[in-house]
Amino acid sequence: MDVCEVYKVLHGMPETAHQEYRTSAFLAARLREMGFDVAEGVNGSTGVVGTLDSGRPGPVLGLRADMDALPFEREGKTCAIHACGHDANCAMVLTVAGRLARKNAFSGTLQVIFQPAEEGDGGSRSVIGSGLLSGLDEIAAIHLLESGDGRAGQASPAVYHCASSQIRARLLGVSAHGSKPHLGINAAEAAVLAANGLSAVHGDPALVHSLKVTQIVTAEGGLNTIPAEALMGIDLRCEDDREMERLAQKVRKVLECAAETAGAGLELQPITYGPAPVYSQAMRQSAADSIREVLGEQGLLRDVHTTVGEDFHYYAALLGCEAIYMGLGADVSPVLHHPDMCFDVRALEHGSEILSRFAEKRLCNMEER
Ligand SMILES: [Zn+2]
Ligand SMILES: [Zn+2]
Repeated sequence: MDVCEVYKVLHGMPETAHQEYRTSAFLAARLREMGFDVAEGVNGSTGVVGTLDSGRPGPVLGLRADMDALPFEREGKTCAIHACGHDANCAMVLTVAGRLARKNAFSGTLQVIFQPAEEGDGGSRSVIGSGLLSGLDEIAAIHLLESGDGRAGQASPAVYHCASSQIRARLLGVSAHGSKPHLGINAAEAAVLAANGLSAVHGDPALVHSLKVTQIVTAEGGLNTIPAEALMGIDLRCEDDREMERLAQKVRKVLECAAETAGAGLELQPITYGPAPVYSQAMRQSAADSIREVLGEQGLLRDVHTTVGEDFHYYAALLGCEAIYMGLGADVSPVLHHPDMCFDVRALEHGSEILSRFAEKRLCNMEER
């Protein structure tokens, strides 16, 4: 099967986070046919880790692809759609695994990681928790780019995501008759105070970041009743982990002050998602060289900076390995995460060729590195 055929199979069986049973069974079966040692259902997840030891000394390189599709409502029903192109990521990584296994001209060990639940649900941590990746020296991934970042025939050697966090706050007031607001504590007013206060929080303009209120919900009651509870959602992103922590502290302070001003109680539930990327410049160079070889000088894009989060960055953060994350131009239309998202499937041939060359560079000529 070539990369486009694999893509078509996976595209036809979209499964949302933690439900990737058919997808992982298909990928595991193909890896076994290629001669990989395959672990399925790793750490109780749907994750698959395939290992191919060349028998020659060298580094351990991981290629990671995420498997999950996104849930959408269509005609009153929830359905899964591959609107982020994770089927494309899996097709490219599987194709590269097959090529390297067939040629068997590399040194060291190739580990292929098919990860569940990238879309905000801890998939990478469940695979890391399996312990199967403790020997990884390097890990790489590739993902479709938004058209604004790159078109078909172009690719970027490094996509810099942001650390990303969603914070849930619960403001607790006291109900009262709307005619006697002084006898109650208005949780809605506390939430509005907090929202206004957050607009005065500024991150370093030299760093890509974003802070916004995403939800304000007050208790449903009569329009003549002082609401006793308000829920707030805040989405926070930054390309730098230290600046991210500074912003998170400011957010916490604003919420505390707003609650105190209104006399309300506050419960905070931070949901950490993913750290910011830290990339190996040597791996970035191999990625750039591979892109230039496949797409020519005009196909080599600059690094892409985006406020999107990625749980890929847990691999380097928790395993202490080196990492790189490439971006593939594919004329994505209209945008990623749109239920009608489509792209130029021929770009997958470029992507798998780039990733093959990259893997060969990282797994050969160890002494020269
Ligand atoms: Zn996505
Ligand atoms: Zn994605």
